[in-house]
Amino acid sequence: MAEVLVLVDHVDGQVKKVTLELLTAARRIGEPSAVVVGEATDELKAKLGEYGAEKIYTAPAEIDDYVVAPKAELLAKLAADKSAAAVLVSATAENKEVAGRTAVKLGSGVLTDVVDVTPEVVAEHSIFGGAVITHAKVTSGVPVVAVRPNAIPAEPSSGAAAVEAVEIEISDAAKAARITDRVKQEKGARPELTEAAVVVSGGRGVGSEDFSVVENLADALGGAVGASRAAVDAGWYPHAFQVGQTGKTVSPNLYIALGISGAIQHRAGMQTSKTIVAVNKDPEAPILEISDFAVVGDLHKVAPQLTEEINKR
Ligand code: FAD
Repeated sequence: MAEVLVLVDHVDGQVKKVTLELLTAARRIGEPSAVVVGEATDELKAKLGEYGAEKIYTAPAEIDDYVVAPKAELLAKLAADKSAAAVLVSATAENKEVAGRTAVKLGSGVLTDVVDVTPEVVAEHSIFGGAVITHAKVTSGVPVVAVRPNAIPAEPSSGAAAVEAVEIEISDAAKAARITDRVKQEKGARPELTEAAVVVSGGRGVGSEDFSVVENLADALGGAVGASRAAVDAGWYPHAFQVGQTGKTVSPNLYIALGISGAIQHRAGMQTSKTIVAVNKDPEAPILEISDFAVVGDLHKVAPQLTEEINKR
């Protein structure tokens, strides 16, 4: 069976959940090989093995000093050397760029924002607010696939992976953008937006920069907080939390939209959520069309009651 390369996302020595999802998907296609840029701790290597990585390729330390381009050179070289069946990365903004560059180097094609992938590397996309599912396949070369976090459930497998250091000469052109400093993000109590199983988002309907009604419900559910662009543009919540076409893409088990109308650009970032709940005072709001459950009412009345009930349990 051919190898399937998975670019590992990790932070503070911990593998991100999305990588475990990618390894699960990779097992359908062939033999998963994890590619680690940055420090591969023992804990990280053990976790990758637990989710089916048969090999772990560790990149030269210098690659971690640069943005995007050297990762693409690394993946393209490995894919060519190993005659890989596919390259899988998470569909983050940075990795989508890595994916595109890797596909160009391989002379193949890239599929982004994929929500599922078959053993034949046919990729599934969810479009038009989840109303239409499309399938696409790269027709020549090694397919490069960027999969959305939370789209494919991670399932453990057995075994420990063999570790192999990769040697590669990175071109000068790829070294154009160097990382000069890393600022450690303050670790809040809430999970990261794109990784969270529950996301509670607030829109213009929240009415002010006091987002506590959204935050309290998110905290009761152990979830992350998101925001619509209208709320972000109003300066009520930071852009890092914006969900949608020009923000983050999320695909949690539960997405609660408080006072969000459901514009197409917002849907683009949350339409693949497993269960969507909307609280909106307008029964005609478009978000209701894609919601599994909806409460027509004032979010400032509904959300606090919901938070109180959840906190009682
Ligand atoms: P509104 O559309 O104003 O909706 C507010 C909703 O709150 C209404 O449905 C209203 O009935 C309800 N409401 C009001 N008060 C209450 C209350 N007390 N209780 C309950 N409900 C209440 N948008 C994004 O979100 N993310 C993006 O990434 C994004 N990218 C964009 C990119 C482009 C190129 C463009 C052109 C637009 C983009 N937008 C994006 C903007 C998008 O088109 C919408 O304008 C935006 O999503 C609207 O945000 P909203 O739903 O919070 O506000």
